[in-house]
Amino acid sequence: MPEIATERISCRTCDTSVGLSRCAGCHAISYCSAQCQRKDWPRHKHNCLPVLLTEVQGKGRGLVASKDFKKGDLIFTETAAISVDGFGEGIQVWGADPKNLPMSNDPMIMKSFMNQVMGLSDRERAKLFEGDLNLARREKIICLDMFLINHSCAPNSAKGVLETKETGGKNKKKMELRAIKSIVKGEEITICYLDKTESALTPAEMKTVLQDIFEFDCQCDVCTGKICDQDDLRLLLDAGLRTVHDIRHQSSIYDFKQNDWKKETLMLENLVNILAMQYYIGRVENIPSMCVAFAFAAQMARDPVRLQKAMDVFKKIAEDTGLEFLKLKYDFYEKFIGQWAAELKSMKPPAVEEIEYFYRSNPHAMNGL
Ligand SMILES: [Zn+2]
Ligand SMILES: [Zn+2]
Ligand SMILES: [Zn+2]
Repeated sequence: MPEIATERISCRTCDTSVGLSRCAGCHAISYCSAQCQRKDWPRHKHNCLPVLLTEVQGKGRGLVASKDFKKGDLIFTETAAISVDGFGEGIQVWGADPKNLPMSNDPMIMKSFMNQVMGLSDRERAKLFEGDLNLARREKIICLDMFLINHSCAPNSAKGVLETKETGGKNKKKMELRAIKSIVKGEEITICYLDKTESALTPAEMKTVLQDIFEFDCQCDVCTGKICDQDDLRLLLDAGLRTVHDIRHQSSIYDFKQNDWKKETLMLENLVNILAMQYYIGRVENIPSMCVAFAFAAQMARDPVRLQKAMDVFKKIAEDTGLEFLKLKYDFYEKFIGQWAAELKSMKPPAVEEIEYFYRSNPHAMNGL
């Protein structure tokens, strides 16, 4: 658990207020001497995170930065307390008694369990699962410190699961939290609870979703109208996501002519250009997922230059944010598309198998990115 925000004007150990220096690890706490620091270390080592736990007006508990972060900086990593895998592994619990958790994928059972047994409010429960109680849909990782981070529709950070390198046995999952914008000391750390498609809705629609799933009234800068230069872009993104969805589900895709693919490619290029330059709200995966759609269309249109461009934009976002899951997705798609490099060069229109490979079989496409 992060240190609790206090005035921080006295030594954590002896309470003196002279000759203080900050803990270099977290900047969240001060000591008068190395001796006092050593004495507190057995306690503080579990709390040595560059964030402070505090009451945030209108939101309950939240985390604020104890120092400045640049875009892409790692804020902290955390080992999961609970992992819930809807695909058969069941619930794995670390640091909690498994007997006390229901072995159920039923959202309603999970909901009442969380509320009654774990004593979580609806809002905290929603935070824990980012609103998604349909556990069969995907794996859920619960990190107790990251669980304290509040939602914003224009978040300044993002979290992602880290690949575990060890083999054998049941590995504890880890998550990382990274700044996706610059964050100044004292600023609240926020993430976006909405998923990709939801974070492309209009402000009014988004508010309804937040109310329905998370049962809270979002007061972020987007919802209160302080940020309005993003509204048109969000509509553009929403339209883009719909087009991509439609293409994927229309049977006439096999009859597309080169000109149709060309048009699709140009439309997506335009969208990616605008969004990559100007869009800064919602989920960090939004633009990379449009890049993937752009790259696929370029493959179909036999346009290697634009395909490269799509992947370059994706790569830059992965590098700038430093998020491992984005880097891994990038590597995945680079290989996925690379398998059809010969067909791309051939300049012949794509055959049925190639269209199916890109638009019917892609495992990630089913779940967004
Ligand atoms: Zn002291
Ligand atoms: Zn520290
Ligand atoms: Zn909001």
